[in-house]
Amino acid sequence: MEPQQRSPLLEVKGNIELKRPLVKVASRLPLPGSRRKRGPDQMEDALEPEKKRTRGLGTTTKIATSRPRAPVLTTVPPTQGQTAAPKVPKKTGPRCSTAVATVLKNQKPGPAVPAQKPGTAAAPPMVGGKKPGKRPAWDLKGQLCDLNAELKCCRERTQMLAQENQQLRDQLREAQQQATALGAERRVLEEELVRVRTQAEQGQQELGNLSARVLELEERLGTQEGLVQELQKEQLGLQEERRGLAARLEEQERRLQGSEAALLGSQAEVASLQQKTAAQEALLAERDERLHGLEMERRRLHNQLQELKGNIRVFCRVRPVLPGESTPPPGFLLFPPGPGGPSDPPTRLSLSRSDERRGTLSGAPAPTTRHDFSFDRVFPPGSGQDEVFEEISMLVQSALDGYPVCIFAYGQTGSGKTFTMEGGPGGDTQMEGLIPRALRHLFSVAQELSGQGWTYSFVASYVEIYNETVRDLLATGTRKGQAGECEIRRAGPGSEELTVTNARYVPVSCEKEVEALLHLAHQNRAVARTAQNERSSRSHSVFQLQISGEHTGRGLQCGAPLSLVDLAGSERLDPGLALGPGERERLRETQAINSSLSTLGLVIMALSNKESHVPYRNSKLTYLLQNSLGGSAKMLMFVNISPLEENVSESLNSLRFASKVRSLPIPALSGLLVVVGFSILTLCPSGQGGHSSRKDLHLPGIW
Ligand code: ADP
Ligand code: MG
Repeated sequence: MEPQQRSPLLEVKGNIELKRPLVKVASRLPLPGSRRKRGPDQMEDALEPEKKRTRGLGTTTKIATSRPRAPVLTTVPPTQGQTAAPKVPKKTGPRCSTAVATVLKNQKPGPAVPAQKPGTAAAPPMVGGKKPGKRPAWDLKGQLCDLNAELKCCRERTQMLAQENQQLRDQLREAQQQATALGAERRVLEEELVRVRTQAEQGQQELGNLSARVLELEERLGTQEGLVQELQKEQLGLQEERRGLAARLEEQERRLQGSEAALLGSQAEVASLQQKTAAQEALLAERDERLHGLEMERRRLHNQLQELKGNIRVFCRVRPVLPGESTPPPGFLLFPPGPGGPSDPPTRLSLSRSDERRGTLSGAPAPTTRHDFSFDRVFPPGSGQDEVFEEISMLVQSALDGYPVCIFAYGQTGSGKTFTMEGGPGGDTQMEGLIPRALRHLFSVAQELSGQGWTYSFVASYVEIYNETVRDLLATGTRKGQAGECEIRRAGPGSEELTVTNARYVPVSCEKEVEALLHLAHQNRAVARTAQNERSSRSHSVFQLQISGEHTGRGLQCGAPLSLVDLAGSERLDPGLALGPGERERLRETQAINSSLSTLGLVIMALSNKESHVPYRNSKLTYLLQNSLGGSAKMLMFVNISPLEENVSESLNSLRFASKVRSLPIPALSGLLVVVGFSILTLCPSGQGGHSSRKDLHLPGIW
């Protein structure tokens, strides 16, 4: 199948390759270039018969030759005939032999006719045969006959030549057409050639470009090769690294396998531990339950102990002789040892007083009277603050357990009440009084109890009561030093809780905060001080801490006030003194103080005797402290004594008052109840809720 679209150039090339003839070789005309040149001999040979015939036909007889002529058909080979045909000269005119030869040539070559021997021809005119022999001159008729035959032959030849001429003309026209076609084709080829040249130029240009590109690519190849070398180096490094990593991976896998094995072991262990943990948790819950029960029991026992010791206790503290003070005579104050000997803490005090009146009358040395007092504990002058606090720390614990606690310092001015309650000057921790020590103890125990689920909060207030007026010692800003604005009120209608209006109630959670409050109270007292009147000794200072505890897990709550009271000086006015304006004021103060102290005594007495009416309202002090006194409340009174002989009268007064308080009957009923409650509770098997049920406890202080 021929390609549908081919460029002319390719077509030409294809034609050349296939050696297709550009034109049809239909004519007898030889192609230019294909014609063979004949040599003179060949030409001669070709022309020979014609010449001879022409001679024979022409006017001259020279043409005739004696040499016998070979018949045309036998002497002219077909190829020579073909090549010789165009050589037929047009100018020479047609000749019979040539025409015959031409006609024969146009015919298909037939089998070669064998040459006939001269004289074998039967009839004259023979075409291609041997010419009949020469007629005698006389034989005109024969000659005429010959001539007619030759004429006829010539005419036939002429006709044939005309035909041949016509054919040649046709061939010429055809050839011209072919030449025209060839010319057109040549132009096409020339155009093709131009196009091919253009393409070749373009190709050349492209080749140049491609060469540049090749150079560039070679350059890039060089770069790439460098890069490849680097990459190969890097690859080597990476392979090395990979080997290292593979080794590490193997190691890790080994470890992982080990870890997995260990994990399996651990999981088994975890499962067993979980079981153990569950068992431990159950045990822990049970222990927690028991611990809570024990804590409740501890509280009960503690309370029982405190109540057995007495809900009202009196301690006596004798301050040391201060520098510049006259030393009392030996034996003025004696501290007899307890029943257990000198190792026992002293509980007794003996004070000797000389009766100067009796001595003066008789002229003999004044006799001395010994006054013995017995208290729950006596602290001689050398007792330290820590020693004192140790005794009362149990009461502080009671406050945390939910029992109201009230501690008083009673005594004449200068006997050491403030020193006992707040501490000595200078911020020496050894000198710290009961208030900072008690609060530190409370914070510490509250922290311990938080491990058992108890949460405690503390709110502090500090007021002074002077001449039956209440003043906030924690007041700040413009309210500093102002008195009379504060009133004691119930917190709400029907509420047992008391509050001081316009007084600050400050939540405290650490010692620093308490220190700051004590410092502020000290400043406020200094503001109110005047030259004539050391007001702090003429007023009661009441530090109150409201303690609130909660056990959310068990729905328990407890709360109680801890009150630390530095009472006003208990000294009485000398009745022999003249009453000037200052003394009158002092008398009024003293009356107010004595009245409130008497009321305190009466209240304590009424509580001890379980009287139906307790005269709390008779003084601001007892009214404010009513929730801290009575019932399950624990009360401790410090009676502070001066060691000086000159203060013996006041000391005796203080000691007598304290002794009265101490001699009051101890309301032991609650203690008995606790004992009963305790015995019931101890009979309850643990885990039956006997310890955790609030209903079953009936403990005062916890609701
Ligand atoms: P009050 O408050 O009863 O008027 P103070 O507490 O102010 O008495 O004490 C009077 C003085 O005696 C103060 O200087 C105080 O430092 C000192 N003092 C009181 N008790 C002691 C004591 N136990 N040890 C050392 N000094 C004391
Ligand atoms: Mg004081």
